[in-house]
Amino acid sequence: MRSALKEHKIYDPQMECMNRDELRELQSKRLRETVKLEYENVPLYRARMDAKGVKPEDIRTVEDLRLLPFSEKTDLRDEFPFGLFAAPKSQIVRIQGSSGTTGKPIVAGYTQNDVEIWTEMVARAITAAGGGKEDIIQVAYGYGLFTGGLGAHQGATKIGAMVLPMSSGNTQRQVLMMKELGVTMLCCTPSYATFLGETIREMGIKPEELKLKSGCFGAEPWSEEMRAKLEELLGIDACDIYGLTEIAGPGVAFECLEKKGMHVNEDHVIVEIIDPVTEEPLPYGEAGELVFTTITKTGMPMLRYRTHDICRLDASECKCGRTHVRMEKISGRTDDMLVISGVNVFPSQIESVLVGLDGVSPHYMLVVDRVKSLDKLEVQVELTEEMFSDTVAEVEKLRDDIKEKIKSVVGINTKIQLVPPKSIPRSEGKAKRIIDKRNI
Ligand code: ADP
Ligand code: ZN
Repeated sequence: MRSALKEHKIYDPQMECMNRDELRELQSKRLRETVKLEYENVPLYRARMDAKGVKPEDIRTVEDLRLLPFSEKTDLRDEFPFGLFAAPKSQIVRIQGSSGTTGKPIVAGYTQNDVEIWTEMVARAITAAGGGKEDIIQVAYGYGLFTGGLGAHQGATKIGAMVLPMSSGNTQRQVLMMKELGVTMLCCTPSYATFLGETIREMGIKPEELKLKSGCFGAEPWSEEMRAKLEELLGIDACDIYGLTEIAGPGVAFECLEKKGMHVNEDHVIVEIIDPVTEEPLPYGEAGELVFTTITKTGMPMLRYRTHDICRLDASECKCGRTHVRMEKISGRTDDMLVISGVNVFPSQIESVLVGLDGVSPHYMLVVDRVKSLDKLEVQVELTEEMFSDTVAEVEKLRDDIKEKIKSVVGINTKIQLVPPKSIPRSEGKAKRIIDKRNI
């Protein structure tokens, strides 16, 4: 970790460091306005509130949130494309779409003001990761309907940095530009960042020859072990950034250089954690499903949107001075949770075992199958060149070691398949880490 960066820069101190009582008041006021807007303009929300017997006047403070109905991804599909818009189409200036990691794509609409809000959220995130107008920022998230590329681009432009809109792919060219232009910050998925790191090495470039100092990595879950790996590979501070198309895009929450969880932009969204089964709100500190309510968007405001992402909230003070609550790293999305013979397994748990090990690359794949009605999990682990040319005894020891460590972390037996260097496909966007043959 590069301690030289430990000066905390804050984009909007007035909002980001607001006293929590004042923040609650601001949230309540914005919630009242948003609920009224939704009730009057979105038939689905009106019908759901009517079914629960709740009127906009019943919602006075944040505490009344629990009276309101939930929304989820299926609503966006059912109401596709414009059914959840609260503003007339003439006021919508942008459409973005989910990358379609799970199921059919969905779209979100933004008014001019919504784009501005989203831009500020990312500007806050980049600033929190040490960015400023002196920086040269390489955006290697994909540009297009996916919110990653344009989101990072807008935020980086907003803070006045020099932006390099590379999009994803063309990896060697990315590295050349990074070196020649003296790029100081990188924005992309953590899996693509590891690929870039490897490519830098392969091209014979040492991290010291680059000017990189930090990066905002998100759009997919990644472990603390992956952070350590990335920081070492690239010689940077690696900060997490979280978001989803339905709520805005990247920047809904972001890490400061303390790297102790992501501050949620609470002046724009209200965050809750619920028990995914009972749907009851859970107190800070307990793990559950993240739920967001937008309170400033007018194009497609979202009411208690269930993300299917699992994490915990932390309301303890942060050394950076921001008062907004932090969400821990996402342990996984319920869509990605594997149930192996009744045991819940998240890819991030397996990742935490693999990425810390010598002789193993940070790329892996989980293959699930059902053999004679029993679930089997095979973990494909990619060896480094050095390990690959090691003795059979060494390699077997590594295999046993991995099997045992995974057993102690997730509690199940797995088959460890050691595969040659470079045999696992590299990701340029969100990594695909699961092949579930049970559904094929
Ligand atoms: P999708 O991946 O569903 O097609 P999006 O591109 O909108 O749609 O991505 C949103 C999802 O990506 C989130 O709900 C979450 O599962 C995942 N995600 C985004 N940022 C992070 C992050 N920093 N850590 C973990 N997961 C993330
Ligand atoms: Zn902080």
